[in-house]
Amino acid sequence: MSGRVDVIGLGPGAEDLRCPRATLALAQATDLVGYVPYVERVVAEGGQRIHASDNREEIMRARLALQLAAEGARVAVVSSGDGGVFGMAAAVFEAMDHGEPGWRDLEVTVHPGVSAVLAAGARLGAPFGNDFCVMSLSDNLKPWSVILNRLECAARGGFAMAFYNPISRARPWQLGEALTLLRRHLPGHVPVIFARAVSRPEEAVAVTTLALARPEQADMRTLVIVGNAETRLIPRSGQDPWIYTPRSVGRERA
Ligand code: SAH
Repeated sequence: MSGRVDVIGLGPGAEDLRCPRATLALAQATDLVGYVPYVERVVAEGGQRIHASDNREEIMRARLALQLAAEGARVAVVSSGDGGVFGMAAAVFEAMDHGEPGWRDLEVTVHPGVSAVLAAGARLGAPFGNDFCVMSLSDNLKPWSVILNRLECAARGGFAMAFYNPISRARPWQLGEALTLLRRHLPGHVPVIFARAVSRPEEAVAVTTLALARPEQADMRTLVIVGNAETRLIPRSGQDPWIYTPRSVGRERA
């Protein structure tokens, strides 16, 4: 078979935060498969056939990609950030696992991208300088009780946290409930950051505390960061403070 699938992380937004390997694989594709806004980000670039679809159709989209590749196409499956972080990479392997036996022989490459957690972390300073965890707050694919349990474990474990998919029109109350749970386990002074559309022209960053954070400060394009009890702010005049989590826990600092 001459077809192949390239799973491509487009990065957080800014063109120069897209990895060169991802750019190369995109340029060589004959077909583009992805969620409409992500495909729109790259459409103008290469003259490929476009197969854009709705947000919730990941498995159908992954099956289509494998089918087209089996027919000989060079298919680029695009995600924002990194395809392996709440993106299309796992959907492609789920489709392969449960699909046509021949799909396992297709050439598949996953090209990493700069995920929102890394872009937002760099924008703020070093909030993930020590142990941290990453969660999606969407209960589309897992029960809300699982999310609450994982949040509690993360808080008890002293992890800094980054929340993808914090809120949407269909999921308006989950972030508020998550913050309420965290307030039971963490001090109110813990920094909370709403990092929206990082590296894009519409970028907006709001720094607050767990005691004061309000769910309305997030939207679908926001990564919500919750520090741990050691996370610190360095105030700066006229600019957002630097935010960092020290590398050491329970030791005298330099
Ligand atoms: N695969 C992507 C994540 C897709 S899930 C990645 O690795 O980044 C979609 C969620 O990602 C959004 O709800 C938001 O929480 C986050 N996100 C994606 N791009 C972002 C950006 N530029 N700034 C802040 N958050 C972003």
